[in-house]
Amino acid sequence: MNVFEEVKLFYQQYQGEKRIVGKSEEGREIFAFFVGAHTAPTAICQCAIHAREWITAYIGLAQIARGVSRGGAWVIPLVNPDGALLSQVGIESVAQERTKNRLLRLNGGKDFSLWKANARGVDLNVNFDARWGTGEKNVFHPAPENYIGKRPCSAQESRTLKYVTYAVRPQFTLSYHAKGEEIYWEFYQPFFRKMRDKRLACVLKKTTGYPLKRAKNSAGGYKDWCIERLKIPAFTVEVGSDGWSHPIGKEYAPLLCKKHENDLNKLLEEY
Ligand SMILES: [Zn+2]
Repeated sequence: MNVFEEVKLFYQQYQGEKRIVGKSEEGREIFAFFVGAHTAPTAICQCAIHAREWITAYIGLAQIARGVSRGGAWVIPLVNPDGALLSQVGIESVAQERTKNRLLRLNGGKDFSLWKANARGVDLNVNFDARWGTGEKNVFHPAPENYIGKRPCSAQESRTLKYVTYAVRPQFTLSYHAKGEEIYWEFYQPFFRKMRDKRLACVLKKTTGYPLKRAKNSAGGYKDWCIERLKIPAFTVEVGSDGWSHPIGKEYAPLLCKKHENDLNKLLEEY
């Protein structure tokens, strides 16, 4: 089973509250699961917005299975199903011949394992309205990575995440990426919000054992948007050692799930 099929099966079998919150550009469902109770604090946890980081979808599922003991959270384990399948399965995952040819051209070959964008060549994590287009690595045409899109939230997947976030109005958000074993939590917050956010970042640091890092000249990310527009704490956790190969293979899922299954719960407990 590929990662999309696994998330879908998990969805079908999940007894708790659940929603199909949107569709990808290729028409695949984007699934969301609620864990915990409808009492504050409420969080959003999103994974696999970057195609080749699909391993993080399993961390999302593990946290749903683990549950939370305070507040509640909406977990979206696979924000970018099309991209994840491009990376995991390859070009055969694309239905339309025209899209296939376009993607092969953009990618410059058949090996999509390092693909990061969605199926339209938009990097979803630079597609948000937070100093959009000012990132150092931004590119301005469709590409395997770093293309910001025609306008903020132009991609269906990032738009879905935006709508879910506005509907849920979470107290904080948690995003999983790979790799590097580090935590990002800053995005131009003013002093007092910075103090507030750092306290929670330190909870995550203690739980994961990962250091807090400062992102260099990046913009347009989901975490950035949460911090800048919603003015809430938002965290990016980069899982997996830098020494591991990209993409991180499924054999690492049990290890990473065990390591991270309690992150969300700890943040909710300490919020
Ligand atoms: Zn990433």
